[in-house]
Amino acid sequence: MQVTRSTFNEVMVPNYNPAEMVPVRGEGARVWDQNDIEYIDFAGGIAVNVLGHCHPELVKVLAEQGAKLWHLSNVFTNEPALRLAKKLVDATFADKVYFANSGAEANEAALKLARRYALDHFGEEKDQIIAFAKGFHGRTFFTVTVGGQPAYSDGFGPKPGAVMHCEYNNLDALKELISDRTCAVMMEPMQGEGGIIVPDPAFVKGVRELCDQHNALLIFDEVQSGMGRTGKLYEYMNLGVTPDILTTAKSLGGGFPVGAMLTTDKISASLKPGTHGSTYGGNPLACAVAEKVFDIVNNPEILDGVAHKEALFRKILGQINEKYDVFSEIRGKGMLLGCALNEKYKGRAKDFMTAANAEHLMCLIAGMDVIRFAPSLLITDEEITEGLARFERGIAKVLANS
Ligand SMILES: *Cc1c(COP(=O)(O)O)cnc(C)c1O
Repeated sequence: MQVTRSTFNEVMVPNYNPAEMVPVRGEGARVWDQNDIEYIDFAGGIAVNVLGHCHPELVKVLAEQGAKLWHLSNVFTNEPALRLAKKLVDATFADKVYFANSGAEANEAALKLARRYALDHFGEEKDQIIAFAKGFHGRTFFTVTVGGQPAYSDGFGPKPGAVMHCEYNNLDALKELISDRTCAVMMEPMQGEGGIIVPDPAFVKGVRELCDQHNALLIFDEVQSGMGRTGKLYEYMNLGVTPDILTTAKSLGGGFPVGAMLTTDKISASLKPGTHGSTYGGNPLACAVAEKVFDIVNNPEILDGVAHKEALFRKILGQINEKYDVFSEIRGKGMLLGCALNEKYKGRAKDFMTAANAEHLMCLIAGMDVIRFAPSLLITDEEITEGLARFERGIAKVLANS
């Protein structure tokens, strides 16, 4: 059967508007389309393909587990899930793990757990969830309501209640809002979708202190920042601030759908048998792949290499900016970087992304003002240099046409 980009418009719900080219295979940080044109991939499946495309060891474990056991439901446990949980617990603050299939589901579990924990320990008055403007936590109705972008949550009728927002990186704003009624504060320790915004470490420490003062749980959504992308296994380790609940997905499966919620013994006790669940969460296929991703990422050679790659990105982007004067700032950390457009080009991130695509570079945007890169942690210096040369050609075209 012949399918092309135009088939999309015929048979797919129009909630997406994908690029014109249709990718058919990938290898490392490169992807080829239906016409066998090669692209360098700085998008990484939106911060997912942490080891690039079709990493041989991931392909191997997928095939091996695929020939062994795919799915059981949570009526039975399985070895890959138990091993992965053990490794996540050993490597982090957490004592307990809940597996889901996506970031939104991991966050849904975190929010429900926070509400239930508050009910168990403090009573039903303690139901308020505070989150931050421009935050992103997924697209289920609860998580999108907690996310700080009303454009994503408006238009679907009544929203889950007792959810409030304040400005990110503004401790005074949180101080105004938080009270003993607050059951949890949810935040990304670096905002991704909202524009690659790195918080002031003092702000994050202050959030932790305010949560402690009011017996509110601190939930870190590390769906985008986690699994090595910032040079540590999780960004909370860079910040030196430990959450009560942490969610992880995207890079966790390296491209295979999986999510997890991590928490402590005491808090986890509130998710008693029957309180929450998922048919596919923790299935052996997903957990076997994620275990291999974890084994490869969680070693100093890979994690320490991230800083070098970031430095190379920043150096070349600096040179590009000297020539074209398009960015006000290069921000982010490790392999999660944002090029913030300056006043002159505000609102035009999409034009730059489309132009880069035409030069055979895949990249992302984060809002209308920021071009985002989230490549594989294994991307080579040569691929970074070549990819940025393509990016520069894209920039030159945008400028020539404006
Ligand atoms: C992508 C993302 C999510 C949602 O993950 P899905 O797997 O798309 O449900 C949640 N939080 C953050 C910070 C994200 O970047």
